[in-house]
Amino acid sequence: MVDINENFLSLGKSYLFQRIAEKKTAFLQKHPEADLLDLGIGDTTLAPPKVAIEALIRAGNQMLDSPIGYGPSTGYLFLKEAICNEYYKPLVSSSLSKTTSYAPSSDEVFISDGAKSDTALLENLFAKESKICVCDPVYPVYVDSNALAGRLDPGYENAIYAQCTEENGFTPKPPSSAKEPVADIIYLCSPHNPTGIAFSYEALKKWVDYALEHKSVIIFDAAYSAFVTDPSIPKSIYEVENAEKVAIECGSFSKGASFTGLRCAWCVIPQSVIRSGKSLNALWNQYKSITSNGVSYPIQKAAEALFTPEGKCAIEENAKSYMASAQKLHSGLKNLNWKVFEKPSAPYVWCKSPVPLSSWELFDLLLEKAHIIATPGSGFGKSGEGYIRFSAFAKPSAIDKALVRLSQLYQEA
Ligand code: PLP
Repeated sequence: MVDINENFLSLGKSYLFQRIAEKKTAFLQKHPEADLLDLGIGDTTLAPPKVAIEALIRAGNQMLDSPIGYGPSTGYLFLKEAICNEYYKPLVSSSLSKTTSYAPSSDEVFISDGAKSDTALLENLFAKESKICVCDPVYPVYVDSNALAGRLDPGYENAIYAQCTEENGFTPKPPSSAKEPVADIIYLCSPHNPTGIAFSYEALKKWVDYALEHKSVIIFDAAYSAFVTDPSIPKSIYEVENAEKVAIECGSFSKGASFTGLRCAWCVIPQSVIRSGKSLNALWNQYKSITSNGVSYPIQKAAEALFTPEGKCAIEENAKSYMASAQKLHSGLKNLNWKVFEKPSAPYVWCKSPVPLSSWELFDLLLEKAHIIATPGSGFGKSGEGYIRFSAFAKPSAIDKALVRLSQLYQEA
């Protein structure tokens, strides 16, 4: 009999969103009539830009006349070039950090079905003994994928945690060289899920400098970059000087362009990231050709259309709308004396209850008394205990209703 991969046994009890889904199902079985407001998962509720859907349909029709088969496993050149020319080049030239001139070239861009897959799979590039460092709280995929790779013990105690706290404004510094082991693979997410807070140039530069000093590699998850409007906040780690020597960046069309159901993303591995004498770019090329036949042609055509003026404008409008909802939720909760934190750069509101409750107790209270689903902070890590995350990707009407119910809850308490 074949044995299973024992690394599955070191995985956390259950994936956070799975546990929430189970609680939601149980609640709806008990209260089928309830008008449940889901401010939990960060799924988009606005439609993808029309120009993208039109391109998708055109590409589908094109396949009727002249079928297109397997594409390149790392993505079509047309989309890679659009990402380089329409996203990175303008970003670098307008960057506040005038010391950097790096913008990726098309051979450094890899197209995939999602930043989730990329952030989960990139660990394959590294030795099993590599030490990982993550922020706490953290998007669970980074730790779970490393547990599956056998890099973490049950309980994940042997990862290095950079704690996001109220004291450090939820943007931690790199580990102290004197006191902690060297972090080999560093996962950073900015704007950060779950707090919504983003790293400033100065804060991010500290991590880049740490990685340069220790020859670490940073996996920078920029899935929420579309929501950054403050010029003092980098959208890309490559806006920071020398980041191209140490950083892989994962970008996504999911959140900004409502592509969560269409699935398309990219990662950049600069040619200059060399470890053990090997180019990580070349290794990832090999990995992709072994494991993937790429993302479908119509989806990549839809993604390409996002870089037209119409596409860019639609992304901006969508982002504005989500951020307006986040602002509304933020002010509403603040008025109700919840402890909310300044200043989110993604449509998440990270807060503490006005009464001392654990994250799951607060989750249960909101579900039972206000029929609202939010995400317990402790599900993202120990430092998230006592906090909860509201997602403002929900429909504006749900945000309005949620605020009314929360104020009623407050009056009843
Ligand atoms: N990275 C972070 C930090 C996320 O929060 C999410 C989704 O919630 C993803 C990646 C997933 O992105 P994608 O839809 O591109 O797989």
